Amino acid sequence: MTSPMPEHFSELPLSPVMQRALAQVGWSKPSPIQARVIPHALEGYDILGQARTGTGKTASFAIPILEQLDPLRIHPLPQALVLVPTRELAHQVHGEFVKLAEGCPTEIVEVAGGKHMQKQLKALGHGVQVVVGTPGRVIDHIERGSLRLGGIWCVVLDEADRMLDIGFRPSIERILRRCPENRQTMLLSATLDERIRDLANRYLFEPVVIDCSDKDVSVETIEQRFISISKDRKQEVLFELLEREQPPQAIIFCRTKIGTAKLHRQLERYYVNRPERKVRVETIHGDMSQPQRDEVFKALRENKIDILVATDVVGRGIDVSSISHIINYDMPDECDDYVHRVGRTGRMGRSGIAFSFVGKDQGYLLTEIEQRINRMLEKDPLSEAVGKRRASPAASEGSASEVSGSRWIDSRTADGPTDRQPEPQSDLPFGTAPASRTLGRAKSRGSVRRR
Ligand code: AMP
Repeated sequence: MTSPMPEHFSELPLSPVMQRALAQVGWSKPSPIQARVIPHALEGYDILGQARTGTGKTASFAIPILEQLDPLRIHPLPQALVLVPTRELAHQVHGEFVKLAEGCPTEIVEVAGGKHMQKQLKALGHGVQVVVGTPGRVIDHIERGSLRLGGIWCVVLDEADRMLDIGFRPSIERILRRCPENRQTMLLSATLDERIRDLANRYLFEPVVIDCSDKDVSVETIEQRFISISKDRKQEVLFELLEREQPPQAIIFCRTKIGTAKLHRQLERYYVNRPERKVRVETIHGDMSQPQRDEVFKALRENKIDILVATDVVGRGIDVSSISHIINYDMPDECDDYVHRVGRTGRMGRSGIAFSFVGKDQGYLLTEIEQRINRMLEKDPLSEAVGKRRASPAASEGSASEVSGSRWIDSRTADGPTDRQPEPQSDLPFGTAPASRTLGRAKSRGSVRRR
């Protein structure tokens, strides 16, 4: 079932309009997830794709959808619905659609909470082809009667694992039940755990399973280090790290909104006293209004911010390819959050580096992360330096008092990481859809509009 991976977009059965749009955005080579999803999606198969953010997954569903849209005058109801977990991701996915729709008039609307309801109602009232939204707001529109799903032939569940984490499962199921049964469904997720498989079993029809989790995991191309540190020295070591690295563009992740605001103030004060460095520091967190957040995202993209202090919820929506450094000032509680944070750098194969500040009692978190990414994190010398300065005889590298509570302790010696490789997770087979499948309407659609 597998065929050679296309090296160039011109090898994919895409319309001239799409080829021109791709050339305009400067993409020539499809990313692995795109190379594998696009041909099947164009044929109308349901897709169950495992891919993380930063792999080009958005275009893997946006391209086939755009290729098969009918003009509004022929098909006045929405044709494709993309559900995403956060408004930042909705904004990002909407932007990607707009970019790829260049050259062919296409109505794409973003319906996410926190954005102006009136504006969304107006856009939906004028008629749209693609709706990108968060489940809560989509339900809101369905109930108001402003969004009718009778014409939907494609539904995408993007970052499905994250949507389930947030508790969107009931909303997702309500929405899916309202969509026509012969639709095409594409489910993309960083993990294919029980919950995802269960959702896929219920709502996908003999999907093609595409696993881009190993080869394309963006975090695998990123240098990842940890700094073992006690709480009271974090700030000092952070400044030391920033002085050493002088990052072109960095995101520092904190756990709480209060912590984020506090660190932002401390950094501002630090750089005010060093005007020669001209470092611009900003923050983004859940207490900021949507326009304020949008402004920060824009400034980051335009390279007007050098250091951004962020919380997870908003940080995960950041898609700026110039981010060079990620600093986990506070460790995330979940491995998934770690992967998402670190995935903010090294976008589309660019190089990036991530540092994680690991407290004395957080060794278990490090172990979990290492098992999840199937790789050991390297210890940064800054931890040693700090340990020595503290003159604690017990704080030598590899000792249990430094970072305790895990198997990881035993596997670390002064010689650095061992060869320990956690067991890889088992994968679903690729390409399980039978060739004889009676395809949904997408199969018969062709790309008439664009040719
Ligand atoms: P995503 O994983 O969809 O968030 O995409 C990550 C970034 O890669 C986004 O900035 C995309 O615009 C960009 N991108 C996606 N596909 C390609 C491609 N084939 N070539 C170059 N950049 C791409």
